[in-house]
Amino acid sequence: MRTFVGSRGPSCAGKVGSGSACCAHRPGPPRAHGTAAPGFSAPARKYGGGSFFPSARKTRGRGDTLKVSMASDYYERLGVKRSATKKEIKSAYRKLARKFHPDVNKEPGAEDKFKDISNAYEVLSDEEKKQIYDRYGEAGLKGSPFGGGAGGMGDFSNPFDIFESFFGMGGGMGGMGGMGGNPGAVRDRPQQGEDIVVRVRLSFLEAVFGCEQEVATSRRETCGSCGGDGIEEGTRPQVCSACGGAGQVISAVRTPIGTFQQSVPCNTCGGTGRIFTPCSTCTGSGRVVKNKTLSVRFPAGVDNGSRLRVRGEGNSGRNGGRTGDLYVEVEVERDAELSRDGENIKSTVTVGCTDAILGTSVKIRTVDGSVELKIPEGTQPGTTLLMSKRGVPRLGNPNLRGDHLVRVNVKIPDKLTPEERMKFEELREISSEQVKVNQ
Ligand SMILES: [Zn+2]
Ligand SMILES: [Zn+2]
Repeated sequence: MRTFVGSRGPSCAGKVGSGSACCAHRPGPPRAHGTAAPGFSAPARKYGGGSFFPSARKTRGRGDTLKVSMASDYYERLGVKRSATKKEIKSAYRKLARKFHPDVNKEPGAEDKFKDISNAYEVLSDEEKKQIYDRYGEAGLKGSPFGGGAGGMGDFSNPFDIFESFFGMGGGMGGMGGMGGNPGAVRDRPQQGEDIVVRVRLSFLEAVFGCEQEVATSRRETCGSCGGDGIEEGTRPQVCSACGGAGQVISAVRTPIGTFQQSVPCNTCGGTGRIFTPCSTCTGSGRVVKNKTLSVRFPAGVDNGSRLRVRGEGNSGRNGGRTGDLYVEVEVERDAELSRDGENIKSTVTVGCTDAILGTSVKIRTVDGSVELKIPEGTQPGTTLLMSKRGVPRLGNPNLRGDHLVRVNVKIPDKLTPEERMKFEELREISSEQVKVNQ
């Protein structure tokens, strides 16, 4: 038999279910409202719609209210300006409610603070209540039909109800609910936004010396209309009537050896336990695709396949989860003459055989522009000559640079003019002795 625990607060219904304890008398950290016994998820108990838990309805419902009087301004409680947008109010509540939720914050006064925050959020998140509050203050709300839960004027909804409808039933705080394997619980936990990858093509020289480039990204951002919960503004999620909010239904499975009862995700609500009008802007996904152009600084020395991380420019997280990162992957265009080997640049130069024999000076195209290179006398074909510090700056330390290596090709003439032939004949006469010696 599972155990129910009553809701906290002055209106606690007292003992319910078997072996339960009224929270008011219960010492120690209150695990109460969201805690589910194994096999059941918290929402089922909370809303008590299912016939499986007849006593659940008594534990806590919309009718339970908490009377809290508090002097300070609602905006101040949430730490937002009076001009705060719906999104800012939501995000302020999200942060504070997590911080002061009695399940995680055991400090004295945290629970009161949690209630104050919830009350403020309840009013400021509701367009009509907010207008009345802005005009007449707290007193205005007490005389209005918006005075809170069914308990009466000036009352507020149970802060734990607000919390759960905000963070999703059974989800939200770690260790709360979700034991029944309710997929809704998973869905409502903070989820980090996905990283996104963008490929960028840089020219050969841009990669060598670095550059700044505009990078176009397409990413998912939290929907501004619903603040990311996917629920149409001005509407509230309803408990799924098919599963009573449990997110699961019991289904009988016939097999040759008998009929078994099995718990399966509820089709009506997709296992979330609630039904809501999807936000018309994001169709309920909570995020919208936005194109954004970022100026990205590519450091000197990036190469093919280099990845730069731009923090926080990926997809937005869900339920307060961190935003993902943007990875910019570099692709470097080829150069007709120059190639890269890490920090070194390589190229080839071709000289005539007489130049190779006698030595000369040639202009070499380097990443720094045209640079004179001395071909020494007697340069052998295939020799590599080094141009010091004309290579690629080291990534992260651009003061260090690689070298430019020039491979020398020697072109042997395939046809000679009669005059050339005569001269080479003469040359052979003179050098024949030397060649014999070398052989
Ligand atoms: Zn939306
Ligand atoms: Zn359902």
